[in-house]
Order: sequence, then C-alpha cells, then structure tokens
Amino acid sequence: MNTAAVICTGVAKAFGSTIAVDGVDLTVERGQVLALLGPSGCGKTTLLRLIAGLETPDAGSVEVGGRMVATPESSLAPEKRSAGMVFQDFALFPHMSVKGNIAYGLPRGSDRDGRVEEMVALTGLRGLADRMPHELSGGQQQRVALARALAPRPQVLLLDEPFSNLDPALRDQVRRDTAEILKAGGATCVFVTHSREDAMVIGDEIALMHRGRIEQVDTPERIFHAPSNRFVAAFMGLADFIPAIVRDGAIRTELGSAPLPQPAPDEDGLEAMVRPDDVVLRPSETGSGVIVERRFQGAFYLYRMALDSGAVVHSLGSHAHPLDVGARVEALLDAAHPPLAFRDGLAAFAGSAPDHAPLEGR
Ligand code: ATP
Repeated sequence: MNTAAVICTGVAKAFGSTIAVDGVDLTVERGQVLALLGPSGCGKTTLLRLIAGLETPDAGSVEVGGRMVATPESSLAPEKRSAGMVFQDFALFPHMSVKGNIAYGLPRGSDRDGRVEEMVALTGLRGLADRMPHELSGGQQQRVALARALAPRPQVLLLDEPFSNLDPALRDQVRRDTAEILKAGGATCVFVTHSREDAMVIGDEIALMHRGRIEQVDTPERIFHAPSNRFVAAFMGLADFIPAIVRDGAIRTELGSAPLPQPAPDEDGLEAMVRPDDVVLRPSETGSGVIVERRFQGAFYLYRMALDSGAVVHSLGSHAHPLDVGARVEALLDAAHPPLAFRDGLAAFAGSAPDHAPLEGR
C-alpha cells in the first residue's frame, strides 16, 4: 500500500475557458511539508481547494490518507476528508476563547481537554488559552488557527498563504514558529505561497507551478541550484544565461570553465546558468566587462555587468569593497560552483547538477 498522505493523479480543473489546473500529478509523503509555489494565477489555490474538497476535479483523482476522496464522478465532502485548513485570515471564531477555538473540531467525549492542552503547549499558547481572538496579536492568532487545524489529527494540513497578512518583522518569526510546530507535531502539510522565501524556509520540498502545471518538485536547495528549466531558474532567483560549450568533460564559458560532475560528449550551442553569487568580480584594466549598474542591497551590492561579448551578468559583492559604475572588471566563475548547462531552455544533462543535499536544521 502506498503510504503517501496525498496523491493527485492527472488532476484538472477549468473555470469556463480558463484552465486553472492542467493535469497535475503530485504526491505528498506522510510527515512532509510541501510548498506549492508559483506566480499569481498559476492555479495553486485551485489545486489546494481540490485537495480540500472545496472544488471538484474535471479529470483525474485525489487520494487523502490512502482513501480516494475525489474523481469527476464522486467527491467526498470537505469535513469528511481529514484535511485541516488554515485560511489567509485565520478565520477564528470571534466569540470563542483560544481554548474554545481549538476544541471546536474535536469530538465530544474523547479526551477533548487533554488534546486542547497538548495543542496549547505545542503552539506556545500557554497563558493565553482563555483569551478571545481580538485580544491576540496576528502571530498569536495564526498559532491558534494552526492549533485548531492540527487538533483533530488530520491526514493533511492545508494552508493558504498563511503569512501574507503579517507585517515583515512578524512574518519571519511566525514562519519559523510554524515550521517548528509542523515538525514537532509530525504534520503532513501542503501550503500555498507566492513567496519563494516562505517556500524555502518552510518547505521540505517545493512544487513550482506555472500555468496550471507543475514544473518541478524538489528540495529547496535543488530547485534553486538545479532548476529543470529557465522558468524555474528565473522564478527561484536572479539568473543570467550565457553562451557555453562542452569540451573534454568541462563546461566552458567566457567567465571560465569547470568540470561537469558527470561525463558528457563535446557539444556547442549550450547556455550556462549563472546566479549573482556564482560570479566573482575583480577590478582589472584588461578585464572583459564594465559595471553598468550598482544596486545597494544592505549587506551586498548587486552589480550588473556588460561583457565585451554583449552578454550581461550580475554579481553580488561585499559592501566593504564597493566598485564604481563604469569600472572595468574581470568576472570569474566561482570555482566551487560549476554552472548548470541548459539546452533549448531545459537543463541539459539530467543529474549533472552538483549535489545539493538539504542542510540539517534548515
Ligand atoms: P493567486 O496567487 O493570485 O491567488 P493562484 O495561483 O492561487 O493565484 P488560482 O486562484 O488557483 O491561482 O487561479 C487560477 C486561475 O483560475 C486564474 O486565472 C483565476 O482567475 C481562475 N479562477 C480561480 N477560481 C475561479 C473561479 N471560481 N471562477 C473563475 N475563475 C477562477
């Protein structure tokens, strides 16, 4: 038996002529936190609603906790799916205390009070359990919403843009708290976000959506460093693409060459993906580029550099040694990080990306 918490197979949904979800296959393992990431309108909320039972698929099927919950012909009601939802506005019951909100979905007669106590402790709400929602901060309200959704031990917790209503300072704290609560509770979770930072901080894996389809599902490290195509590369962060060839097992570009992690035949007409942190700049009268823009980013400057070949690349440099616009520079690839090769917009050598295992304690 498949132990996955959620399995979507060929799921599709259209609204009139708008195809919101276009044949999605997605598996969420038990205990995994999956971020559904993508630009506005790509279909992520619709996919979440299909899993929750708030929409019915036009094609395909959805399984939750090993049970078929939706096909075009039959759809189990949301409250029968064992899927807990946390909405953007938290949707707490205003007339109920913290305890009352958490207890709401728990069956009477069971050890209701014990479970509420457990949830209060897990979400760090001790001392606030008798308060009403309006007496709580935004971050505290979010924790109550999480506790309420986790209390009945759902097979999967579904979060829709859970941090979008929080100001930036609070957002960071709540994001870290949420990650800890989800891990401590062993929860399986799918959360929708258009923020790649949210996705990278909280997601064990990220599923990147574009125009109703999933472009790539991978760990945050791999989806950033080893994107499968140009859309994924650009969505995950600034990326430049410069001409490249393969010779003698190495990728060669005008910024230098680096051995490929796997053997590959000689090839022309490729591109190399270069992120700003991959490029090291050095002032040099004989360098092959000129700085055309310098953007202050706090700890770093982001430089845009025009190479004599016509290519444009970006580089991050320390604020301690600023370079001026107009300065001639030599740009070199960071030797520790060989660039990824692309052919016709797709990653050229499957498995050729350097290994980027998830870091412990992310
Ligand atoms: P956002 O980040 O802006 O919320 P999203 O990725 O969550 O976007 P969806 O809300 O899933 O995207 O919408 C996908 C597409 O389906 C959009 O073009 C949207 O306008 C359309 N859509 C979603 N719900 C409906 C609906 N109930 N009726 C008509 N069109 C809809």
